[in-house]
Amino acid sequence: LRNLVIVLGDQLEPDASGFDDFDPAQDAVWMAEIAEESTHVWSTKPRTAMFLAAMRHFAADQRDAGHTVLYTQLDDPENQGTFADQLTADLAALQPAGLVMTEPGEWRVREALQQTADAAGIPLDIRVDRHFFCTVAEFAEHAAGRATLRMEYFYRELRTRHGILMTDRGHPVGGQWNYDADNRKAFPKQGPGLVPPRATFPPDEVTRDVLALVERELADHPGSLDTFAWPVTRAQALEALELFVEERLPGFGDAQDAMWPGEPWLWHAHLSSSMNLKLLHPREVVAAAEAAYRAERAPLPAVEGFIRQILGWREYVRGVYWTQMPGYLQRNAFEAFEPLPDWYWTGDTPMACLKDAIDTTLENGYAHHIQRLMVTGLYAMLLGVDPREVHAWYLAVYVDAVEWAELPNTLGMSQYADGGLMGSKPYAASGKYIDRMSPYCKTCPFDPAKRIGEDACPFTTLYWDYLIRHEQPLAENRRMALQVKNLARLDDDEIAAIRDRADAIRRGDVADSRPSGRW
Ligand code: FAD
Ligand code: SF4
Repeated sequence: LRNLVIVLGDQLEPDASGFDDFDPAQDAVWMAEIAEESTHVWSTKPRTAMFLAAMRHFAADQRDAGHTVLYTQLDDPENQGTFADQLTADLAALQPAGLVMTEPGEWRVREALQQTADAAGIPLDIRVDRHFFCTVAEFAEHAAGRATLRMEYFYRELRTRHGILMTDRGHPVGGQWNYDADNRKAFPKQGPGLVPPRATFPPDEVTRDVLALVERELADHPGSLDTFAWPVTRAQALEALELFVEERLPGFGDAQDAMWPGEPWLWHAHLSSSMNLKLLHPREVVAAAEAAYRAERAPLPAVEGFIRQILGWREYVRGVYWTQMPGYLQRNAFEAFEPLPDWYWTGDTPMACLKDAIDTTLENGYAHHIQRLMVTGLYAMLLGVDPREVHAWYLAVYVDAVEWAELPNTLGMSQYADGGLMGSKPYAASGKYIDRMSPYCKTCPFDPAKRIGEDACPFTTLYWDYLIRHEQPLAENRRMALQVKNLARLDDDEIAAIRDRADAIRRGDVADSRPSGRW
């Protein structure tokens, strides 16, 4: 055997760099369903099923293409349980001359594979990942010499370099780089209207086997497989992209930040898992959206907003991850050490907004960005949860969760634990923000306008407590100054009452039980 080509669960791309000089006569593909990947964080059933189903379909395609595939299933009696042990055992048996792979998406996995190759004395050729618009080296170059990083400038650079939504004369189409101001509306009172049903892909035999395996082997893991209908092949992912562009993209912009009870899908794309597993290329997603604008099938604010998420945020978080790891994982700027409440794993809370966000997360392996950022993420930040615990939850629960995408969003954007690298200020808000962007508060036993009292909204109490606890560093941030200034309106008694109630919330005396107040 000449080369063994390692393909991880988020590298399901037949033309990835790892395959560049693949010779079916001398090389083989190595894939393994590793139990540790589902247990080092308590991975939900939908997340594990997503990876395994897509991997098995990819392995079948590889075999159809005439490639030898060494594939270890999760329940194989010979399965060694970790990447290091499985690869060590297979290297001893196969004795390849070399190992080849495309850059992994996780620092921990890269380290484990490199150490395993070194220990076996077999060279490991790690090749640049062409899936992205921007390489890690290009991002590092962009970041070098800048005192602060901002996504917006990076995004503009990429738009210019790749000629996306640009005029022939090198200007942004429509005359503006960013149409976010048009994309922040709440839904009207009657709700989001007729949202097209999400694209669903009923499990085929391969996927049904995986669902049964996950139910059996990971029986005590959170989440449900009852509604599993994600795209798990490239053909399905392409169909999901086509349907999104046709049906949802035109409505994507307007209420991008809005929330509605029982409606997790809204006008979002639901394409993150397809892109993160590499079933879809971001270039084809961006090109399809731009083509819809050019053909006047979708308005510019929607298309620009959507493209910015992929060309901007998705590339930016990857750059932050690889230029900051491994130290990034340890960042805890505000020294937050509270445990994550147990009900994040069950949804068993009376808080209507949190319950809905966690319920959809466990049922579907999905919640949209504002639920992740301004509901589950915001609450954890205000409560003062240890960022590593918050990170372990986000990495475990979503079908699109891969560490390069998840960690900067969680630790940086949502928890501000990197002290301002990802975003220029913490996304700190009270329950009034959620009340403005959704009707949740109308069915909730708490009152978003109250910061103290038995029925005060825990978000609102904790928001004021957060400002009190971190007044000094927040006051030094120009973009937070106005919010901090409002503290002056509170007298000592009110401050003490807020702190008492925040302590009671942290002890679990409030959010874990039903207040008598407004019920
Ligand atoms: P849409 O709203 O339709 O957006 C389109 C695409 O843009 C997405 O498919 C995604 O690829 C990309 N995108 C949008 N926002 C971001 C962002 N902030 N960072 C990176 N890409 C973005 N995204 C992941 O892919 N994996 C994660 O593990 C993940 N964890 C997150 C954790 C937290 C705390 C937060 C606040 C966000 C996280 N995100 C993550 C980003 C974002 O929430 C998801 O990409 C998005 O909700 C996926 O749903 P969608 O495909 O319907 O996205
Ligand atoms: Fe969420 Fe507070 Fe509104 Fe209840 S009152 S839905 S906890 S923001």
